[in-house]
Amino acid sequence: MTAPSRPLLLRGGLVGGRRQDVSIRDGRIARVGAGLDAAGHDALDVTDRLVLPGFVESHIHPDKAFIADRTQGLSAGGPTPQTLVAELKKSFTVEDVYQRARRVIELAVRHGCTTMRAHVEVDAFVQLRGVEALRRLQADVAGVLDLELIAFAQEGIFHDGVTQDLLREALKTGLGTLGGCPYMDRDQRAHIDWFFETAQAFGVPLDFHADSGDDPEQLTTDYIAEQTLARGMQGRVTLGHLCMLDVLEPAHRARVIGRIRDAGIHVISLPATELHVKGRADVTRTWRGVTRIGELREAGINVSISTNNIVNPFTPYGHPDLLRQALVTAMSAHLGNLDQLAWLPELITTNPARALGLEGYGLAEGCRADLVVLDARDAAQAITEQAEKLYVVKAGRVVARNTRTHELALDRRE
Ligand SMILES: [Zn+2]
Repeated sequence: MTAPSRPLLLRGGLVGGRRQDVSIRDGRIARVGAGLDAAGHDALDVTDRLVLPGFVESHIHPDKAFIADRTQGLSAGGPTPQTLVAELKKSFTVEDVYQRARRVIELAVRHGCTTMRAHVEVDAFVQLRGVEALRRLQADVAGVLDLELIAFAQEGIFHDGVTQDLLREALKTGLGTLGGCPYMDRDQRAHIDWFFETAQAFGVPLDFHADSGDDPEQLTTDYIAEQTLARGMQGRVTLGHLCMLDVLEPAHRARVIGRIRDAGIHVISLPATELHVKGRADVTRTWRGVTRIGELREAGINVSISTNNIVNPFTPYGHPDLLRQALVTAMSAHLGNLDQLAWLPELITTNPARALGLEGYGLAEGCRADLVVLDARDAAQAITEQAEKLYVVKAGRVVARNTRTHELALDRRE
């Protein structure tokens, strides 16, 4: 791997649709242009390979990854994934969480991720053991991956007398975001109020797992938007899932989308999990639960996609590869036309970067040199062929290099 201090030149890559060189110095993009001088640089030939900013996982659960083999999977009428995982959490140790989460990070980096915001569950079952493991991991992977952490209340906050204090404790240890899950408490509004009050007290942004069901009576997005505006937290609130949007009548849906936009709320869709979890008990027309990504984007809302779960009852085939999520999204959200494939990478790069408030993100001169080089000429080919990520660069240093080989017993005929 390249030493951190040595300037790097990516030669001939496709940046913004044109063949250009990218010169990198001191962890930042120094210049982008054709025919740059390679003197004093380590040069990598990436001619006609697609260069994108590093992928950003904005909603992912490394603390409960790789536990599918410890429990049964989902079945119609069977226990919810929350119930299955809650039981397992009791026996999580710090070391166990650390090792599984570390495996997630290694795979994510290998697949082009340079920044990740991860949920860490904080509750009566696991207490602060996940926080301890992920804080350690955050320090251990610094320089290779920026790992941001969310103190997340997967079990709700009104079922016991300890979770609220534990969440405050997690924020005091330095977790940068507070994560709520209104549908896990009977009084969703009281839950939402507590999260806004606590986030304001600690000066941290909010991330909700919200409206994951299909009963419009349970909708909370409009209340979250109202509170976001009332408390002046525009741009600092994120909603994950938002499946319910899909089942609202068109006029109602348009109103809710308008409120999301007015409140500057970021939306994150988690298509792989929705496809696995939703509609299991439906007798006909099994609902797949993916939110209206195209409509949200059309309305000017900052919408992203993320991996969410990895090899657990929520998503047994989950894998921290955002290019895979782009393909899942194309298939599950009616976004497979060529113009749509062309913008889908925004959902795993610039949009989540904006949701996380990342500074200096992108491919412009002066930006932080976090990028990924794909073995494809454009986004449609990258997504369709699930192209290899040839190089992953973090702060100007190559942190992953991947190759794919094949042998084929066919002559190429012109
Ligand atoms: Zn989640």
